[in-house]
Amino acid sequence: MDFRFSEREEMLRKSVREFAENEIPPKMEAMEKTGDFPAELLKPMADLGIMGVITPPEYGGVGLGYVARTIALEELGRVCGAMPMALQVHHMGCAVINDFGTEEQKKKYLVPLAKGETMGVVAVTDPTGGSDVVGMKTSAELRGDKYILNGRKCFITNSHNSDFWVVIARTAEGAKGLSAFIVEKDFPGAKLGRKENKFGLRGANTGELAFDDCEVPKENLLGQEGGGLAAAIKTISETGRTGMAATALGILTAAYEEAAKFASERPLYGKPIAALQAIQFYIAEIYSQLEICRLLCYRASWLKDNDMRCDNEAALAKYYTCEAAANAAKKAVEIHGSYGIMREYAVQRLLRDAMVTIPAGGTAEIAKVLLARAALAPFKKQK
Ligand SMILES: Cc1cc2nc3c(=O)[nH]c(=O)nc-3n(C[C@H](O)[C@H](O)[C@H](O)COP(=O)(O)OP(=O)(O)OC[C@H]3O[C@@H](n4cnc5c(N)ncnc54)[C@H](O)[C@@H]3O)c2cc1C
Repeated sequence: MDFRFSEREEMLRKSVREFAENEIPPKMEAMEKTGDFPAELLKPMADLGIMGVITPPEYGGVGLGYVARTIALEELGRVCGAMPMALQVHHMGCAVINDFGTEEQKKKYLVPLAKGETMGVVAVTDPTGGSDVVGMKTSAELRGDKYILNGRKCFITNSHNSDFWVVIARTAEGAKGLSAFIVEKDFPGAKLGRKENKFGLRGANTGELAFDDCEVPKENLLGQEGGGLAAAIKTISETGRTGMAATALGILTAAYEEAAKFASERPLYGKPIAALQAIQFYIAEIYSQLEICRLLCYRASWLKDNDMRCDNEAALAKYYTCEAAANAAKKAVEIHGSYGIMREYAVQRLLRDAMVTIPAGGTAEIAKVLLARAALAPFKKQK
């Protein structure tokens, strides 16, 4: 077992850290205020290689893979959680087109994504409930050479920052009746709905998409008709959950750094509060969680890079790291005393951001359903 990063990965970490520390902070006040993603950073992010980090070079990417992606997401998240949130969903859009697209679809849609000309979107969630994917109502009916889409998608990341969206819709009854489509925002009947007003990860745009007799050319079916559920599950469980986990890992890293720095600087009773054993224990807890989560996140990404099954590992990394980030951020707020709830201090934002990672990409309860299934499988009695 070798836990070292390659030289190329270390270089990527260094360049993303430099980018994140220099370019993101000047944008953060506006991101917090407006809830808008700073689209002007897409091109520099593409130049760094992180828009196309998992996209093969023949489609404009750099093909470094999932461990490299986790490094990039962690480093961005250490400065501002909204950035990796938006980027990791962009990668979901890249992955689903790379995995299921035709050669023509990849040339047309994957290349601009890898170049940072637009952002990836995967729209699965209907207002009928995100956990119950099969219960979705958004429909697609083949009429002549077009599919006609009707319905609505909610809580969609990058919705208002993209020229096209991968949309899952119902073409027939049941679990095998879902199909995936690439829908351009200018197709007749495609509409942007409202932008959500989230309390955290504010700079990652989340919004609604609406389809009112939306005309989608037949050639924009992504994969096979009826293959939408499999495409959604593969994308969420491999790219989505590893991405959400890495986003939370960045927030957790920031919580640790803010807590340790404040504790080392804040004097009480003539010494920094880091001299108090209760505060040391809190820092030790945050630090332990961070070390555990790093292992979980990089293991899931490594499995994916090595073409090994990673769905349970990604669910564990996502669930555990998001919870740990929220717990660590809460503790970091408390270590700051009353300063912790003041807007000038980053820890209150970290707590808000960490809370938003918990439902996104599948809730903690859904992760536990998957993990319980894996844990009980060896003991299941044969019928
Ligand atoms: C910031 C953010 C970004 C998002 N981005 C996207 C995106 O880009 N694309 C997209 O398609 N969706 C996106 N989502 C939607 C997200 O995937 C869903 O919100 C999530 O799957 C939960 O769905 P829901 O909100 O409808 O909750 P529900 O599914 O209604 O769940 C409500 C509650 O019931 C619990 N529950 C549900 N089923 C079970 C069960 N079987 N056992 C135990 N408890 C259960 C849930 O855990 C939860 O506590 C995003 C959400 C957020 C917050």
